[in-house]
Amino acid sequence: MNSRSIIGLTIQELEQVLRGWKQEAFRAKQIFSWVYKKGITDFARMSDLPRDLRKSLEENFYLFDLKLVKVLRSKDRTAKFLLEAEDKSRIEAVAIPAEKRLTGCISTQIGCKFSCAFCASGISGFKRNLTVAEMVSEALFLKNNSAQQKLTHLVFMGTGEPLDNYENVLKAIRLVNSPETFHIGARRITISTCGIIPGMKKLAGEGLQVELSISLHAADDKTRGRLMPVNKKYPLKELIAAAKGYSEKTGRQITFEYVLIKGVNSDLQNALNLVKILKGMKLAKVNLIPANPVKELALEPPAKKDILLFRDYLLKQGVNVTLRMPRGEDIAAACGQLRLRDEKIYHS
Ligand code: SAH
Repeated sequence: MNSRSIIGLTIQELEQVLRGWKQEAFRAKQIFSWVYKKGITDFARMSDLPRDLRKSLEENFYLFDLKLVKVLRSKDRTAKFLLEAEDKSRIEAVAIPAEKRLTGCISTQIGCKFSCAFCASGISGFKRNLTVAEMVSEALFLKNNSAQQKLTHLVFMGTGEPLDNYENVLKAIRLVNSPETFHIGARRITISTCGIIPGMKKLAGEGLQVELSISLHAADDKTRGRLMPVNKKYPLKELIAAAKGYSEKTGRQITFEYVLIKGVNSDLQNALNLVKILKGMKLAKVNLIPANPVKELALEPPAKKDILLFRDYLLKQGVNVTLRMPRGEDIAAACGQLRLRDEKIYHS
């Protein structure tokens, strides 16, 4: 009877299980090394464990919460992993390799409650939170299928809202942070939020140096409210104050994500509003992202010259700004495109 996932347990939790079986606690480290360092997905192959321990593990635990359905690899080497949970829900995770890094983009929920006007994730509604084991399994799939390249960075920017699944996301972060698993430093882990203020405040008090990205997308309440219904609950003034609070408390720079959408939030008045609301925030950066087209949503990026005008205006006003070109577009792995296409393929 395979009853419980071994992924998602902390080493202390596994040690406790082992003590209950009258096994030595150091075996937990060996098991973690097989799972997280060597990418072994079968207890029978953990050759330095006593036979009876392997048997107990097999009887009491399973090793993956997710099944790999398929991998789509982009021309730019970005790879999108379509995974299936036990309840048949589909989850997407993305591996983004660069010269010296491998960034994993992790989904935190099945679907999303927040219905941002430009995002594919909320189109089919919200189903449930992902468990710790499912999120850590996403990271493991990415690592195990990336030529065993070390996973150096994680961004909680896939489908869902991480701060709406707070406890599980935090436990997953502490786990991937620990030396026995991926040992990814907190500074290399990013949480991206649509602006859940109580979650941001709580996160500031965790004593973790996690990077915080805020999906801003407009700098006046009217435009932002239209794009992001969450703005009605957590309006800009309070959001910016909470962002300041986070950077003051943690010493971390906040990244404001700003998706540029033609005719919606990308003229110079919008740029001016952005400069205004960021005034006085020392530890802030703006990341401009030309909107990725989502077929179901009438959505277009501005012309290149307008994107550059917007960026240059911010630069001139002394804003720390980067322009991010989306990766993995040919496999629909870019921001906000996750899950929907595959859901259509598989469920219609
Ligand atoms: N809920 C979180 C994390 C998921 S979205 C958040 O809101 O931040 C990850 C990022 O992709 C966000 O910045 C989101 O605004 C952006 N995004 C969503 N749809 C997009 C689209 N069509 N084009 C470009 N970026 C998009």
